Amino acid sequence: MTLQEDYPPRLLPEKYQTLKEQTIDWSIANSLVIRPTAEVALPQNISVIHAPVALFPSPIPREAFEEAVNLQPIFNELYHKMSLDDAFIKSTIQKVSEVDDFVKKLYDIYLKTKDKVQVSSNKLDSFFQQHAFISAHKSDYLLHMDEGEVKSKILQVEFNTIAASFSSLSALTGKLHKYLVESTGYFDANARINTESLPENASLTSLPKGIAKAHELYGSSKAVVMMVVQPGERNAFDQRWIEYNLLQNHKVHLIRKTLAEVSEEASVDPVTSSLTIAGKEISVVYYRAGYSPDDYPTEKQWEARLLIEKSKAIKCPTVAYQLVGAKKAQQEIAKPGMIQRYINDPIQVKKLYASFAELYPLDTTPEGEAAAKLALENPERYVMKPQREGGGNNIYTKDIPPALARLSVSERSSYILMELIKPPPMKNTVLREGELISGPMASELGIYGIFIATQDGEVLVNEPAGHLLRTKSADMNEGGVATGFAVLDSPLLV
Ligand code: ADP
Ligand code: MG
Ligand code: MG
Repeated sequence: MTLQEDYPPRLLPEKYQTLKEQTIDWSIANSLVIRPTAEVALPQNISVIHAPVALFPSPIPREAFEEAVNLQPIFNELYHKMSLDDAFIKSTIQKVSEVDDFVKKLYDIYLKTKDKVQVSSNKLDSFFQQHAFISAHKSDYLLHMDEGEVKSKILQVEFNTIAASFSSLSALTGKLHKYLVESTGYFDANARINTESLPENASLTSLPKGIAKAHELYGSSKAVVMMVVQPGERNAFDQRWIEYNLLQNHKVHLIRKTLAEVSEEASVDPVTSSLTIAGKEISVVYYRAGYSPDDYPTEKQWEARLLIEKSKAIKCPTVAYQLVGAKKAQQEIAKPGMIQRYINDPIQVKKLYASFAELYPLDTTPEGEAAAKLALENPERYVMKPQREGGGNNIYTKDIPPALARLSVSERSSYILMELIKPPPMKNTVLREGELISGPMASELGIYGIFIATQDGEVLVNEPAGHLLRTKSADMNEGGVATGFAVLDSPLLV
């Protein structure tokens, strides 16, 4: 029998009911929770609901999982070097900035702050670069299996360089699945599910550990870390655990501020370039906001972003890192010969290229024109992506031809074209706001990565930092958890 046929185990309806009740209680007792939507929330943030989760861990071939983990340090190094390559940023981002206002705003901040020290008679204008780098990445993959193939392989969906979320709740979802396996015994009939095939997930502690290391490099024991958050964040507990672990394990304090609050309360010392807010010096700025145009409703938020960028606080990420996380950079770096500019080891270079799906520009170059033609002829093979993060922005298959007809050629340039990855079908049951939904599903594997280097280029930390599995209905295109498309899951290595 194939994996798809005998997984997950078939259970009587009352057993599903028990699994559901166990999942809800365990989740609430162990902070695998989010804030409810405004319609059902009690006042003053006093209520929570269980996070959306899969009842069964989803099968991932062990080999594919290990490959994704092994790729992470190579990707960490690659993206760090891309973020320091002014010529690469200029050649990939400048053109997009001409047709995409959000990218233009970010690129303008990059141009204003990129030089280490701008020599100026007016000290207020002298920008000091941070003296260490930390990046907290997440590389996302789908399994791909073409018709007629028996073995699936991983292909990269995208590489996130800002605000990768769920590092805390993801680890908790793994613990939930271990608990369900051990407590219910419902999984026993299926020998594949045992706690050995549920991998440990370091994501709960690895990010706080990385931030603590960056804080130490900043070198002021009185300083605190600042998490830049969205107002009214529902995924607050995922973030809170970063704060609690920082304090518990590393004795480092973290404050939460929105970009609007930063614009009102923060200042940068004209002589030292230190960033201060509410009387506290900031060592590390960790962004969980700022990746979407919605995070900048007024100029105030952009002023806050610029203020932070020109300070000497260690930015996680810098605006340069955010820019090389753009889909356009992903498409450019996938061109033949590009990775070799940054990575010396030919075996590593080959591994990275093997993880890329087909990627094309949609600009006015002959290559872009050819790609637009390809997409019109075979739209079912492709997805079109704009320079956005956070889910819900892509244009899929049959929607591509009308979109191409609607967009001017210059608007089209702000998108890339990507081969549609086809994950092998599998089944699962997911729990969302107390409701069970069963059916064909697809899972997206994310690997977190932490990279820390000094300004002189000495690499202090370069490691994989745990994983995230998100599962969505197979007939849905998108896969974000926060956007309501997917649920949290954990891998069952097979
Ligand atoms: P975002 O930065 O908004 O998360 P993604 O590139 O991750 O953008 O796309 C969002 C979702 O769309 C992914 O989580 C995945 O479910 C789906 N998706 C993206 N690219 C592909 C692809 N090439 N093939 C199949 N599905 C894709
Ligand atoms: Mg993204
Ligand atoms: Mg994504």
